[in-house]
Amino acid sequence: MTRKKIAIIGSGPAGLTAAIYTSRADLDVIVFAGLQPGGQLTTTTEIENFPGFPTGIMGADLMENMKKQAERFGAKVEIGNIESITKNDDKTFTIKGQKYDAVIIATGASARYLGLKNEEEWIGKGYHSCATCDGFFYRDKIVAIVGGGDSAMEEANFLTKFATKVYIINRTQKFRASEIMLKRAQDNPKIEFILDSKITKFIGNEHIEQVELINTVSNEKNILDLNGVFVAIGHKPNSDIVKDLIPTSANGYLLPDKGMMTKVPGIFVAGDVTDFVYKQAITAAAGGCKAAIDCERWLENQE
Ligand code: NDP
Repeated sequence: MTRKKIAIIGSGPAGLTAAIYTSRADLDVIVFAGLQPGGQLTTTTEIENFPGFPTGIMGADLMENMKKQAERFGAKVEIGNIESITKNDDKTFTIKGQKYDAVIIATGASARYLGLKNEEEWIGKGYHSCATCDGFFYRDKIVAIVGGGDSAMEEANFLTKFATKVYIINRTQKFRASEIMLKRAQDNPKIEFILDSKITKFIGNEHIEQVELINTVSNEKNILDLNGVFVAIGHKPNSDIVKDLIPTSANGYLLPDKGMMTKVPGIFVAGDVTDFVYKQAITAAAGGCKAAIDCERWLENQE
């Protein structure tokens, strides 16, 4: 009997865990790894809360281990984005000219930006979304992080390795960050909090030199001198390639229907592209496992 062919889109913890499970179940598996193989965890530093690593593990190492584990059971990993998925009349799917019996979508999520007028012109000129990628450029400089979640706290602490001062700009007095992460930032002498404030404008010539801030309570405006701004205000699901095929929530998350299978029989979802609540590496991996098991069982029932 010919082995069933599975395409997994995405190579973060969800995609690679799905690859480990499906390839161990003797399915013929290809992982389309995207342009950032390993996903968001490759842009973070140490992961302290993934079970099994009592002293933590670097995000990139964790993802490399998952990839090797999937390849050990025969999964192929191909770098690069896919443009589309076509549903065929014979219940198969076509991706890059090849037919597949089932597809697992684990495309993750991407950083949100502030939504300021012409903000894209400042990207790379002082406006960034990944502190671990670009923090290095701010040695002995002043930077700001926008956000009040765990990402903002973690990235602010990371940036203090390079910058002389790091502002955390939060639009309210409330934080979504966990107590432990918030306290770590509050205890860091290089970090200063600016609360109830939003950036309304970037100011500079070739590079950001100042930002205009507005106080969200008093509406008072201020100018702050700095060299760079990092956003850590959450992520949006990477669901565009299948948004015409699979139902999504109002904010674009792919909706599963039965278990991890979507309303399109044979297409399964896992990880941050479908998770608007937990968004953890471990929950993404768990989602990949569930999608793989649902996929195997669904394929068995098709025979
Ligand atoms: P969160 O959704 O937790 O926090 C987003 C923050 O950005 C909030 O403070 C929010 O403010 C603010 N925000 C949203 N939109 C805007 C805007 N337009 N302008 C200004 N501020 C804005 O996202 P995170 O990325 O921080 O975390 C996501 C998940 O990942 C969480 O579950 C977190 O626990 C987890 N995580 C865990 C880490 C760890 O344990 N090591 C590290 C990093 C993340 P408001 O509250 O006002 O909406």
